[in-house]
Amino acid sequence: MKKVLLASNNPGKIREIQAMLAEHDLTVIPQSDFGVVEADETGLTFVENALIKARYASELSGLPAIADDSGLEVDFLGGAPGVYSARYAGPGATDAKNNEKLLAALAGVPFSVRTARFRCVMVYLRHASDPSPIIAEGAWPGVILEAARGGGGFGYDPLFYVPECECASAELDPGTKNRLSHRGQALRSLAAAMMSTHGALAGAS
Ligand code: IMP
Repeated sequence: MKKVLLASNNPGKIREIQAMLAEHDLTVIPQSDFGVVEADETGLTFVENALIKARYASELSGLPAIADDSGLEVDFLGGAPGVYSARYAGPGATDAKNNEKLLAALAGVPFSVRTARFRCVMVYLRHASDPSPIIAEGAWPGVILEAARGGGGFGYDPLFYVPECECASAELDPGTKNRLSHRGQALRSLAAAMMSTHGALAGAS
């Protein structure tokens, strides 16, 4: 099995990505196994941040690396919180504080203009100075609710209404969420691109 480092310490993401890439004969190793801590997300876009994380992890481990960056874009807020989704209510903000701030920002805004989407960008680097990373994206459209619903998921899931399921994403079972979500889409697309790009797998050892 070839080895790839995953630039994340999120156990949920690690499990999902390990399961999907195992089918392709790739062993995904969490960056914590190499003592790699999270890189500072200083980029202004999801792509920049994903590349920063993957490059940093690859540099410190000497292995090919995968990283993702994701967030929520709300149309009425000009795309905010976007890359700042995790820290919307300030550094170290909790999901509850971020959701509270989002509800306040949309107070009085009618349902028809509360449209939003989750976005995810996933990248694969053969090595830290790889000039041609593989980049895959996913987008999941929804509407921001006026009150939280459901107890599953994380982050903004209780406020994210999924029209095709007529419920909040926090009310979906994990399998359904992975099938539909921005992250599931990006990961499937990344896996397909990695498998069809000889150079990518030639870099893995
Ligand atoms: P990161 O990709 O781990 O940096 O996550 C960015 C932030 O976006 C998370 O902390 C959440 O607030 C939000 N987010 C990303 N994906 C999801 C999701 O699937 N559900 C709910 N919130 C999400």
